[in-house]
Amino acid sequence: MRNRLSFQNVYYLPSGRIFVLKTKGGYTIECTEMRDVLVGSKLHAKVRTSQDPKLIWKHLAPYKDKWLLTVSTQKGCPHNCQMCDVAPLPFKGNLSQEEIEDQIRYLLYATPYAQSNKAKIGFARMGEPAHNIANVLGAILSLVSGSLDENTTGQKWLPCFNSILPRQTIQGLSGQDVLKRVLKFKEVQCNGRLHFQISCNSTDEEKRKELFGGADVLTIKKIIDIVNQYDITDRTVTLNFIVMKGVEVDVKKLMDFGLNPDKFMVKLIPLNETDNAKANNLETVANYNNYDDLKALADKFKANGIPVVFDAIAKCEEAGLCCGQLVSANQKPVQHIKYEIKKVNAFRLPDTECKKQIGYMVGTEICEQCEYFVAHNEQKRIITCSAVTPNNDD
Ligand code: SF4
Repeated sequence: MRNRLSFQNVYYLPSGRIFVLKTKGGYTIECTEMRDVLVGSKLHAKVRTSQDPKLIWKHLAPYKDKWLLTVSTQKGCPHNCQMCDVAPLPFKGNLSQEEIEDQIRYLLYATPYAQSNKAKIGFARMGEPAHNIANVLGAILSLVSGSLDENTTGQKWLPCFNSILPRQTIQGLSGQDVLKRVLKFKEVQCNGRLHFQISCNSTDEEKRKELFGGADVLTIKKIIDIVNQYDITDRTVTLNFIVMKGVEVDVKKLMDFGLNPDKFMVKLIPLNETDNAKANNLETVANYNNYDDLKALADKFKANGIPVVFDAIAKCEEAGLCCGQLVSANQKPVQHIKYEIKKVNAFRLPDTECKKQIGYMVGTEICEQCEYFVAHNEQKRIITCSAVTPNNDD
């Protein structure tokens, strides 16, 4: 990475890893590589609520079918969204195109998977990409043109641009210009194969503004008006709703705005338990074993012909997987992480040595002897487990 980014730490969750890297200027950023948890309706609650990584591993989508990655686009974020743990971190501006690309190079270097038929990579994680649009679209172009993964031929990339669409970017672009530029880029440079996700969270514009920490964002009506003027091929534009108690999501309002199933789909997301969400007293309408209210809302969209997907993480990953959590936690020099992760501060260094010779470490495997993940940032065939198991498990 030509010393633009240096490795600080890696955190293991049952379905993947979160890397904390430091920029040359000393700012810590996060990037992730994860797998999708596949569950049928019967097992849904059991898997989602389990604290046993082995149960989750049994239900992971194979990498070759789906691989989920995210990279940071800014050093912190200028916004203060009520549900996001990036918000309290200091904002220090944009990452360069090279720094964004280096995160992708790093993820490829640190992960021994040669090929995925759907390598979906989100350009947001830490940061709002609209403010850094030239560097983000530049990095996506490098990615889809194949110049970033010389050693991993055959990745079928699906870039994902996730935005709250601020009315004005820090570089002076209007939200409408950002929207049009991304739509054009999607169709021309990516042949439609770009997933454009727009955070909505409520159909009440006043409430949206409050949830976005006071940020002025493009109204949903304006977004629908503009998108409807474009030919949308391959991936439709996704309106994301983190569905919270007491927060309006009015399907009729959206249909009256002109929500068109040929151009749009909707993603319904349970609220994760972030520190910021708790501090702002936000409450989810769905949790790991009760999706009834979310399904009822999905049915209203479906009755109007709008495709709906759910996006939920497993309970044991809630602490750590959400943006910004591990940059804050990275003050501690943690090397090994026990899998029962409930809170970020539960990561700890155990006390007794293991030393079992274990095979190739791939993302979500653990040492069978001590059941600790072994942190490593090198690709080796055989490594010695250097985890130290605790004398007691309190
Ligand atoms: S949700 Fe996105 S835009 Fe909002 S504070 Fe977090 S990173 Fe920034």
